[in-house]
Amino acid sequence: MISSIAQWHQVNSFAALPPDFYSRVRPQPLSDPQLLHVNTDVAALLDLSPQALHDPLFLRVFSGQEPLPGSEPLAAVYSGHQFGVWAGQLGDGRAHLLAEVTTSTGNHELQLKGSGMTPYSRMADGRAVVRSSVREYLAGEAMAGLGIPTTRALSLVVSNDPVYRETVETAAIITRVAPSFVRFGSFEHWHKAPRQLQWLTDYVIHRFYPECLDTTAGLPGAGKAYIVNWLAQVVKRTAQLIAHWQTAGFCHGVMNTDNMSILGLTLDYGPYGFIDAFQADHVCNHSDTRGRYAWNAQPAVAQWNLHRLASVFTTLDIPVEALQEALSGFEAAFLETYRGSMARKLGLRAWQPGDDDLYDGWWGLLHEQAADFTLAFRRLAQVPEQPDTFLALFPDHEPVHDWLDGYLQRTAHDNLPAAERVERMNGANPLYVLRNHLAQNAIQAAEQGNGSEIDTLLRLLRNPFTETDGHSAYAEPPPAGSRPVAVSCSS
Ligand code: AMP
Ligand code: MG
Repeated sequence: MISSIAQWHQVNSFAALPPDFYSRVRPQPLSDPQLLHVNTDVAALLDLSPQALHDPLFLRVFSGQEPLPGSEPLAAVYSGHQFGVWAGQLGDGRAHLLAEVTTSTGNHELQLKGSGMTPYSRMADGRAVVRSSVREYLAGEAMAGLGIPTTRALSLVVSNDPVYRETVETAAIITRVAPSFVRFGSFEHWHKAPRQLQWLTDYVIHRFYPECLDTTAGLPGAGKAYIVNWLAQVVKRTAQLIAHWQTAGFCHGVMNTDNMSILGLTLDYGPYGFIDAFQADHVCNHSDTRGRYAWNAQPAVAQWNLHRLASVFTTLDIPVEALQEALSGFEAAFLETYRGSMARKLGLRAWQPGDDDLYDGWWGLLHEQAADFTLAFRRLAQVPEQPDTFLALFPDHEPVHDWLDGYLQRTAHDNLPAAERVERMNGANPLYVLRNHLAQNAIQAAEQGNGSEIDTLLRLLRNPFTETDGHSAYAEPPPAGSRPVAVSCSS
């Protein structure tokens, strides 16, 4: 534990790359910043004692007022494909990497988001509004609580500085924490620059995928086999991540290649959503009028994004066949995670051949009747003993009984003791997820300077599988007839 953030041991490995990869630029502070919330779980990961959080230096650094002692902030450059189209150079347009620190739990990069303009801001203001900052702050913890790889956030600082979006809102800065914020787009940026591409690749492999260096010679792409090995690992991690998203009912909303983490983390929370009433083609981002990033499109989009990443490596003279070989592992990795997760969620011992039909029937049932995603899984555990609350989620019971007949036969074949089945299912199917309307309540309070709703949500989302007394409303779908919260790219 340390009592001041000045005591962190810094390594700053990304900053040790040549200056081609970033611009040294200072954050622009908010006026009269207020520390609305500190995430004590992330503070603990970073070895911070309560004293460190109360030290005035904490607010000064994480509101962008002064650099973390001993570090030089930077904004990283990257490019990317946005909505399927090459967008050219992007970069941290409103984010500053403060430092990478070594703690008892490993290395963590600390990045401010909403901290002012950088050379990559293009026409925008470098700011983030309270609304989107609260959403990102909560989302990292919601995903972590579900066991899904994600960036997280340490602190949320708000101010009265105006920010102009569709209406006038106020500015906020969150401090994001991850081992690295390198994206697919960080590689795409160097698609015509072999030297820089090689440096970045070697940096990422040595630092985050050292196991890939351990390769047998003789694979295609002489001398570059470790890169092919590594790409296969990125493909695997990405496939596993998306499988987790699918079975959690999570839609990212903006799966542009610049929002895809090279470490397989959920990155850049914007117009994301956890599905309430299930529709397989659910689109959570209001700006995504064509549904490119619909729930049922996410696996194919991830594959498309991986193709964009892999194709960059032709610049290093890696043969296309070797790249295709690395890409070909997606489906198997996706299916393994997806099938395992569905088996746990449905209370089966393990996936067996033939179960895919059962899973497909389940999705069909939920889709046809727009059943609540989270509650349908959760309440299935109560069938067959007390089927009523489960059945209440479906307006038409006949097709539900048909599916349940097959399902109960399948569970009988497994022969798990009833109590064990229920326990397993309740450990895999959350009661509380970060539904948009819950986030909205926390945002409204935060805009009034009140962080207590954030506090309540974090408590529930950190233990989403355990029922907490007095909080039944947080497990409910949005009130019937209420207008869905519209979330878009504007943040
Ligand atoms: P996003 O859609 O949030 O992933 O952002 C796409 C790109 O636009 C990234 O390069 C961001 O840094 C940049 N960007 C988004 N919003 C802003 C903003 N308000 N000011 C500066 N750059 C921004
Ligand atoms: Mg982004």
